[in-house]
Amino acid sequence: MMIAPVVDELGARFDAAGYEIALVGGPVRDILLGRGSKDLDFATSARPDVVERLLAGWADHVWDIGKAFGTIGCRKGEWVLEITTYRSESYDPTSRKPEVAYGDTLEGDLSRRDFAMNAMAVLLPSHQFVDPFGGRDDVRNKVIRTPGSPEDSFSDDPLRMMRAARFAAQLNFTPDPAVVAAMTSMAERITIVSAERVRDELIKLVDAGNPRVGLDLLVSTGLADHVLPELPALRLEVDEHHRHKDVYEHSLTVLEQAIDLESRLVDVDELPDFVVRFAALIHDIGKPKTRKFEGAGKVTFHHHDVYGAKLARKRMKALRFSNEQIEQVSKLIELHLRFHGYGTGEWTDSAVRRYVRDAGPLLTRLHVLTRADCTTRNRRKAEALRAAYDDLEERIARLAEQEELDSLRPDLDGNQIMEILGIGPGRDVGEAYKFLMELRLEHGPLGEERAREELLRWWNERS
Ligand code: ATP
Ligand code: MG
Repeated sequence: MMIAPVVDELGARFDAAGYEIALVGGPVRDILLGRGSKDLDFATSARPDVVERLLAGWADHVWDIGKAFGTIGCRKGEWVLEITTYRSESYDPTSRKPEVAYGDTLEGDLSRRDFAMNAMAVLLPSHQFVDPFGGRDDVRNKVIRTPGSPEDSFSDDPLRMMRAARFAAQLNFTPDPAVVAAMTSMAERITIVSAERVRDELIKLVDAGNPRVGLDLLVSTGLADHVLPELPALRLEVDEHHRHKDVYEHSLTVLEQAIDLESRLVDVDELPDFVVRFAALIHDIGKPKTRKFEGAGKVTFHHHDVYGAKLARKRMKALRFSNEQIEQVSKLIELHLRFHGYGTGEWTDSAVRRYVRDAGPLLTRLHVLTRADCTTRNRRKAEALRAAYDDLEERIARLAEQEELDSLRPDLDGNQIMEILGIGPGRDVGEAYKFLMELRLEHGPLGEERAREELLRWWNERS
């Protein structure tokens, strides 16, 4: 196994002081998967105050992540380490937060972890591999299993059901049938978990490489009915007479297409971009409630953009998303249909400007969402929509450039120049204009008064 030198250094330090320490959880799993990470988790027999003492003088920076949970964090070079005292957690099933009790053995600690693949350890400094629940086989077979019975495990902490879906989406692993069965029968238990913990797992799931797998699991097990009921509600019945698309399937495809377009988000700080992904996933949640059968096979969803934005706001608030995220996602949903009035480019410049202004800093995300929101199988239709959006983006770029240049004017216009210099139209006015433009480019806006002084000085020096 490839173990970084920092890990061995840390191991030697704890060993010398007479404590047990092991690399555990995600990093061990990731080593077996052949992927490295700069975030390392450890479990130790030392209590948090001892951990703090052993890290002082070795780590570059030490912080207390939650002494109540027994976790101390530190940074050493490019590595971020989290060291947690062995736990023997007992959960009160009715409480929203796990209670922590310290344990004395690594095995005990591992047995309380969520999945067998996350319950492996490498003891230090010996590098002895500890795998009491067959995690290595699970990684090889790409399956998600609990160390004990899934019912007991999910009863201890129902969030683990969300985590199963999240890991399925991140790792492309399949939950064991017993895990799926427990998720299905115990789905309702997720409601005792705090919204913040659910939210954090939902974010990781949506930001994963294959969110469809995780979302399908949430929906098929019934977990989504509790955490994001608007999603399963998109599975509108397909009516023989009113032939219309399955909005749920459409939404997952739009999400995947948005992911494919994510590299266009050059102005977004960090990818994956949860905001554009989540907006893509739930952009049509206003549809079920606004659906009307108009006769002659026509189905409408009037104002589903506005209503969808409102539903998104409500759901995200319940899940304790930040105000910024709520505003961003709901604004994108509200604007996701605007482009469809664009047709073959008959928007006026002012309509284009309004589009840009209304999107504000969300403009590139709106481009991605709108482009992703085309799932027609009709190639010509799809091509026409893409061409129309290319055209719109070009017009936005052209307008922006033009208006930038337009705003680059000298501080005085031709009439003012003629008035100040007491001359009529002619070459001198053009020369003066050029002189003032140079000043403007050189110094930025001068204001009328200074421009007037400069103009007169130039004029006097010239004659
Ligand atoms: P990543 O950090 O890449 O998201 P991870 O596997 O490290 O994945 P974390 O949420 O960081 O996951 O948790 C670290 C470890 O703690 C897990 O590998 C697992 O062993 C354990 N763990 C985390 N949450 C729970 C939980 N709710 N119940 C039981 N064990 C958990
Ligand atoms: Mg981790």
